[in-house]
Amino acid sequence: MKFGCKHLPLLVLSLLMVASAPSGAANFLTLKTSSGKQANAPIALRRSGAVSYVDLNGFAAALKADVYSNEQKRTFSFAAGSARLKWTADNVFVQIGTECWQLPTPVIFQDGCYWAPLVAFLELLAIVYPSGMEFDWNNYQLSLQPRKGGGDIYGIAYEQKGNGTLVRLFCSREMTYSAPIIRAKTVILTLEHASADGDALSRVQPAGAVEKLALEKIAQGLQLTFELAAPILECTAWQDEESRQIHLSLVTQLVSAPIPGRDGTRSAGESEEINQLLEREQQKWKVDCVVIDPGHGGKDPGAIGVTGLKEKEATLDIALRLKQLLMKDAGLQVVLTREDDRFIGLNQRTKRANTEGGKLFISIHCNSLKKGSGSGFETYFLKPARSAKAMEVALRENSVIDYEESTNGYQELTEENYILLAMAQSEFVRESEGLAAIVQRKMLLNTGLKDRGVDQAGFYVLVGASMPAILVETAFLSSKHEEKLLKTKKFRQQVAQALYESVLDFMKQTETANHDVSAE
Ligand SMILES: [Zn+2]
Repeated sequence: MKFGCKHLPLLVLSLLMVASAPSGAANFLTLKTSSGKQANAPIALRRSGAVSYVDLNGFAAALKADVYSNEQKRTFSFAAGSARLKWTADNVFVQIGTECWQLPTPVIFQDGCYWAPLVAFLELLAIVYPSGMEFDWNNYQLSLQPRKGGGDIYGIAYEQKGNGTLVRLFCSREMTYSAPIIRAKTVILTLEHASADGDALSRVQPAGAVEKLALEKIAQGLQLTFELAAPILECTAWQDEESRQIHLSLVTQLVSAPIPGRDGTRSAGESEEINQLLEREQQKWKVDCVVIDPGHGGKDPGAIGVTGLKEKEATLDIALRLKQLLMKDAGLQVVLTREDDRFIGLNQRTKRANTEGGKLFISIHCNSLKKGSGSGFETYFLKPARSAKAMEVALRENSVIDYEESTNGYQELTEENYILLAMAQSEFVRESEGLAAIVQRKMLLNTGLKDRGVDQAGFYVLVGASMPAILVETAFLSSKHEEKLLKTKKFRQQVAQALYESVLDFMKQTETANHDVSAE
C-alpha cells in the first residue's frame, strides 16, 4: 500500500471531525418507532467531561426490549434489532451477538442505570439495525427500522476504515457469491439465487468509498453494483460463518486533502507557519531511531510454552538479534525497552520510546491459545478490536498490568482521556497498519509459517506511542511445533531478519511519501 504523505491536513481533518461532534447540551433523546409514533418516555443523556452518555435502561424500556441484568456481575443486556447487546459497568467491551466491540470509554453505572458513550452507542445501533437507523442531531431524535424479514439480504452497513470502507451485508443464510469484479468506478458482486429487501437496503445511506448502490435481478441471482466515489486499489468479499454477514472490503487509494496555504488565499505569516509545521511533520516521519520492545520480562513470564519455554525469553533474544541487524547493517539508532530479564510496566515502555525520540515502535510477542494449539504469526496495530480473536489476544497481552504495583496509569486510560491518548496514536494508524502489512509479508517469506493477517485491537503497550507502533505475535507457544521452533537460534534469527527487512521497506516507502510532499 502507498503511505500517506500529507499528514498535516489529515491531522487537521481529524480535529475538525472532533469539533463537529455533537456539542449541544441536550438532556434527552427521543425514540421514534417504526410506526412513526414517538415513544412516550424520553431517554436521558448526561455529560461527563467532553463525552455524552445515554441511559441504556431508558433506551431498553423505550424499545420495550427483553432486558436482563446481573447485579453481581454488573452486566446489563437487551435485545435490539438483529442481536443481543451486553454491557458491563466500568468496562469498554460490549458483546453484540457473538462479536465483541470496544467502546472509547467504559460504560458507567450511576443512579441505578447503565450509561454508554452516545456516539459509539449510535455506531453500534447502525450495526444491529441494518435495515435502517437514523439519528437527527438537531432534534436528538432516533429512528429505528426493525427487520421486516423480506429477502436473503435484509440489511447493510457501511463502515469507514483507515484504508477504505467495509460494507456489511446482513444475510439470513449461507450464500454463494462470485469474487467481486472491479470495473472503473464500480464494484459488482453477484449472489447466486438470492433475494434482498430492497427498501431496507435503500434506506441506509451509502458512505465512505460508496456513493450509490443498485440492485438488479439477473439470471444467476442478484447483482449488487456499488458506484464508487473514486477508483479503489482492491476489493475482497467473504462471509463470516457465525454472523452470516458478507463483508466486502473496498481498499481505497489515499485521497489527499488540499493543503491549506497553497492556494494563495493565506497571509504570508500563515503560510510560513504552515511550512514550519510541514517541516516538523517531515522530521517526524524520518525513521532514524527504532524502539524495540521485547514483550514481558522479570516477574511476568508472558505465555508459557507446552514444554515450558517462556515468552519473555524468546522475545528478548529476537529483540537483541533485531537490534544487532538494525545497528550494524543499517546504521540506525536502536533503543530496547529492556536489555535483560527485568519487569517493565506497559506505559513505561512507550514513555521511554517517546523520550528517546523513537520513530517506530515494535513490540515482540509470542501467541498462545487457551484451547487448541494455534499456528502462524499475526501483527496488530492500535485500534478498537473488531473480532473476538483480536479481543482475546489484547486481553491476554493487557493482563500484564496485574503484575504492576500501581495500576493508576491504566485506570486513567479507561476514563475519557483514553480518547485523547488513542487519538495521539490515531495520527499514525495508517502507517502502523502499513508497517503491519509489510511485517506479515516478510514473516511469510522468512519463516514460511501460516500468515494469520493484520488485525487491530486495543493494546495498552501501544497506547501513547507518538510514532507508528505495532505488536507482532511471532508464533504460538501453545503449539508443540512452533514452540520447538521458537527455541532455536535459526528461527529467532529468521524472525529478526523479517522485522529488519520490514523496517527497511517501511523507511523506503515513507521516504518516497515525504519526497512527494516536498516535490509539490
Ligand atoms: Zn505477550
